[in-house]
Amino acid sequence: MASVELERALASLGNILKLEERRGYNNKAVMGGLERFLSQTLLPSLESSGTSQQAVVIRRVAGELGGYTTLPPDQRAARIRAALQVLRNGETKPAPTAARIHLKQAPSQAVPALDEAIVTVPYVGPKRQELFEKLGIHTVRDALEYFPKDYHDRSTLRTIAELNYGNKETFVAEVRTVSLRRLRTSTNLLTAVLADHTGTVEATWFTRGYYRPNIEQGQEMIFTGKIGQYHGKLKVEGAEFEDIERGLLHSGRIVPIYRSTEGLPPKLLRRVLHDVVSYHAPRVAEYLPAYLLERGGLIGLPDALGEIHFPTSWEGLETARRRLGFGELFEMQLGALIKQAARRKLAGGVRLLGTHADLALFLGRLPFRLTGAQQKVINDVLGDIGSEAPMLRMLQGDVGSGKTVVAAAALVAAVAGGYQGALMAPTEILAEQHYRSITSLLEPMGERAPRVALLTGSLKGRARTEVYERIASGAVQVVIGTHAIIQQAVEFHRLVLAIVDEQHRFGVEQRAALVAKAHANPHMLVMTATPIPRSLALTAYGDLDLSIIDEMPPGRQEIQTQAFGPAERSQAYARLHEEAQAGRQAFVICPLVEESEKVEAKAAVAEYERLQGDVFPDLRLGLLHGRMKAAEKERVMEQFRDREIDVLVSTSVVEVGIDIPNATVMLVEGADRFGLAQLHQFRGRVGRGSQRSYCLLLADSPGEDGRKRLEIVEQNTDGFFLAEQDLLMRGPGDFYGLRQSGVLNLKVASLADVGLLEETRNLAAGLLEDDPRLDAYPELARRVEARLNSLAEAN
Ligand code: ADP
Ligand code: MG
Repeated sequence: MASVELERALASLGNILKLEERRGYNNKAVMGGLERFLSQTLLPSLESSGTSQQAVVIRRVAGELGGYTTLPPDQRAARIRAALQVLRNGETKPAPTAARIHLKQAPSQAVPALDEAIVTVPYVGPKRQELFEKLGIHTVRDALEYFPKDYHDRSTLRTIAELNYGNKETFVAEVRTVSLRRLRTSTNLLTAVLADHTGTVEATWFTRGYYRPNIEQGQEMIFTGKIGQYHGKLKVEGAEFEDIERGLLHSGRIVPIYRSTEGLPPKLLRRVLHDVVSYHAPRVAEYLPAYLLERGGLIGLPDALGEIHFPTSWEGLETARRRLGFGELFEMQLGALIKQAARRKLAGGVRLLGTHADLALFLGRLPFRLTGAQQKVINDVLGDIGSEAPMLRMLQGDVGSGKTVVAAAALVAAVAGGYQGALMAPTEILAEQHYRSITSLLEPMGERAPRVALLTGSLKGRARTEVYERIASGAVQVVIGTHAIIQQAVEFHRLVLAIVDEQHRFGVEQRAALVAKAHANPHMLVMTATPIPRSLALTAYGDLDLSIIDEMPPGRQEIQTQAFGPAERSQAYARLHEEAQAGRQAFVICPLVEESEKVEAKAAVAEYERLQGDVFPDLRLGLLHGRMKAAEKERVMEQFRDREIDVLVSTSVVEVGIDIPNATVMLVEGADRFGLAQLHQFRGRVGRGSQRSYCLLLADSPGEDGRKRLEIVEQNTDGFFLAEQDLLMRGPGDFYGLRQSGVLNLKVASLADVGLLEETRNLAAGLLEDDPRLDAYPELARRVEARLNSLAEAN
């Protein structure tokens, strides 16, 4: 043993002795008792360490504890004290901190409090502590909140006669015979005959090395295992087992299944969590206001923690989940509302008047009539920027719903007030697109039109320096560009409005960098075409205000959407070919590959080659994937826009967020594996011109579920409806940006429960109205704060 390990061994021996003390000297601090532990586990492991100081100490401790098993409790106490004394005197250097703190604790305080390190818990020594920390369990509180990932129902005990072939069953039996046979050098086969009053069954375990299941003839135990058969007789292989007296922890009940890690046996983890839960759960303080529990018919925290770990019934588990999920969402909503209130109280923003004549001029000369939804959203925005509190609003609207004109109106208001505005887009091609549509929307204003500059990475040399100068002097009033806008060298004259398009494509830092360029606290508008159900958006981006454009401009043509089975593939290709021959263009989206971007890129290259070589040899194909350099991607996009490419083959990681009116076909491979909202977004890439457009969904072997999902996309064109269906069918994982928002950091609550999201938000708002700083609920305040902090870290 290396000396580090010896130190660890000493530390855990100390833990064990303290545990023995705490448990009233019942010789249960380690399985099998102290003497057996020392003689069979610890001492043999010292053999190579000969006369090292630590080995000597351990041997002396073993000496103190000789005969411990047969001593009465009062004499055991003296032996343990003596052994601990040996350990203390024998310390050659300070033991690891955690262990030392532990040893210094007076016995009356030996029960660890919630914030103490996990090493203070029985069975967890410094070595296992590392494994627990791997699971994110640092403290006792973490353990208490480390919920099972699943449950197995082992509550129904069967007799041996009742065992069913193929089922996982739990039964009580006596071990009649045990035999061990060596199969290969390191593998043994342990066979036991198990019996009850109705019959017998053979059980086998394959074991490796010196490990041998602790099964002895004559024992009566609870077994759980899958029932198989051999030569027509039932048998069970690799069954889990447990002493009946040991309290039915691993069987005979609904058994929690925890995510574990290598080196930490599931049974041990369960045992430790059981100890933590049975001691601490009844002692934790409730943090939710009593009136809320009563109103919602929710159980208290102690009961809920007990039930979620070790359910007494499936109904009990459900009530626990309801209570804990409610708590999580409630905390989250409080956090969001507190952040929102703090922002709304911020002053120092610049008031921009929505009544300026230039704005009226802009709105009056638009080439179309605003939809009702656009009008409403423009009013939201003008209301926000008319106040000193900085705006932070998210604008959601399906592809083509007309978000650009809203952005333009805000920019006009900023410029009319004598300030500057900026719009940042994730790619050059999108920035250029915005530049073109915004300048053309502003054109009818004549000389009163704001002066707009495009700033992207490809602007170089003198031209760039010139633009920099004009931005700094205020000669340029609106800057549209990529993250070139947030380069160090860019200085604004008086920037007060920052607009970010497709915000999920930017990190928090990039948005912050834009804000940092501003004059005072800027107003911020983030736009997204990703439809997220309203209640989810309010929760995920809860500190933002939310506006939705839920109405399409008139005259949009419907895109003909059709799903094709494997046998109909050639029909889909024929449709694409027909369109291409008529001079129009197509997108092909490659199947989703989850392993990595690299694998996905490789698959895309193969698909591109296959299509070009075998399917469309007479068409010009282009390829776009996530491993390409930004400049290469831009280049391919430009070629597509300039009609040098007929068919653009792309992976899903590359959002083809580009307006190509000549593109009339969107063909999606492996469509059943995409989220509905994402399919809908792909579909939004076509149908932008006057030609009839098609969305062709290919699925090779869709399951029942996959077929149903494709049918939903075929029949529905409302992005928000599809997003909601997605949420119900697949959970929130598919929504862009949610991962980063940290909102998925929920253990119990389901974000698909839209009703509960709304309810908790209203209740949180109600509580904050009476007690805006949660003074009456310090533990609740602590939890909300911790959640906000962990969100900030996640970002
Ligand atoms: P998105 O929300 O995808 O950014 P855009 O702002 O690019 O949508 O608008 C899509 C197209 O619809 C543009 O060509 C725009 O000029 C046009 N448009 C926007 N609003 C209206 C409207 N109220 N009536 C008619 N066409 C509109
Ligand atoms: Mg747009």
